[in-house]
Amino acid sequence: MAAPTPTQGTANTPSPALGLRDRHGRTATDLRVSLTDRCNLRCTYCMPEAGLPWLPKPELLTDAEVSRLVGIAVRDLGVNEVRFTGGEPLLRPGLVDIVTAAAALEPRPEISLTTNAIGLERLAAPLVAAGLDRVNVSLDTLNPGTFKELAKRDRLEATLRGIEGAAASGLAPVKLNTVLMRGVNDAEAPALLRFAIAHGYQLRFIEQMPLDAAGVWRRDEMVTAAEILEALKAEFDLVPDPAHRGSAPAETWLVDGGPAKVGVIGSVTRPFCGDCDRTRLTADGQVRNCLFARGETDLRGLMREGASDAEIGARWREAMWGKLPGHGIDDPSFLQPARPMSAIGG
Ligand code: SAM
Repeated sequence: MAAPTPTQGTANTPSPALGLRDRHGRTATDLRVSLTDRCNLRCTYCMPEAGLPWLPKPELLTDAEVSRLVGIAVRDLGVNEVRFTGGEPLLRPGLVDIVTAAAALEPRPEISLTTNAIGLERLAAPLVAAGLDRVNVSLDTLNPGTFKELAKRDRLEATLRGIEGAAASGLAPVKLNTVLMRGVNDAEAPALLRFAIAHGYQLRFIEQMPLDAAGVWRRDEMVTAAEILEALKAEFDLVPDPAHRGSAPAETWLVDGGPAKVGVIGSVTRPFCGDCDRTRLTADGQVRNCLFARGETDLRGLMREGASDAEIGARWREAMWGKLPGHGIDDPSFLQPARPMSAIGG
């Protein structure tokens, strides 16, 4: 058999020439960077009410370290989209500077933020000036009591103010992410869609994934994509969106003839692992090649030992090369990752 050419890589080694490839033919170009494991909400599907043992400060990447790793990903590894998340990324004091540094990179990546929007009415304008292109805001309910029950904090008003602030700063379209929980907010799906359409926001429902800190997720309790669609179809005319989906996690539908759309991210019942183009960096500098990966690759240690950009890039490529073909939630041997969503970065 012919030896592999340098651009193919071997079964055990990624090719240096092809960016963040894996051995199943996917290439990661979308980087999710968690900037903190802390959050000012306690959404029950994500974090316990008492919080978690937070990462000690010396273990967190500094702003300069985050920017160096983002730079390596964009300049050397083919990443063209950078999404900052957490925990709650608006809690990171250096966020505006981190966005500024990302926006100065060549080639310039798309820069987005996933946030609960608390404080965004104040921060949206400086973030846009720094180079933020898009924002996704988590909004699970329009009912203050339900918000308090679900997030353990009475902050619906602050969230809505932040969403308005984002739209007023020109971030468009503002995308809203909703996780439905049975018996808590699942009856609100149509009302949330009416709200989104009325304000020109784009709503996406996300199936609840087994990433809660307490490990109490149960598949039979999860509100499925099929159920969400059924509830929406009772009130709206939904037609599959003819636009090409690509590697987008959301399947989208045109609502009442369009142009309004609604998305459903069926991570559990309609997995899209075959098209996954994500690579993830935790706030303490660990690469995760999948949200559900059991292992991580330490770039912080390597960086602090004095490694060059080329050495860090090579380690990152190795980490991605080993990405599994799917998250395996449906496999009986599935084990929930040790870190909950808030510590991975959603
Ligand atoms: N604090 C920010 C926010 O609220 O958007 C960013 C971090 S949060 C972990 C990112 C996204 O992950 C949110 O849209 C949240 O709803 C989602 N999320 C968290 N835990 C989840 C779970 N178990 N299943 C599905 N989505 C989850």
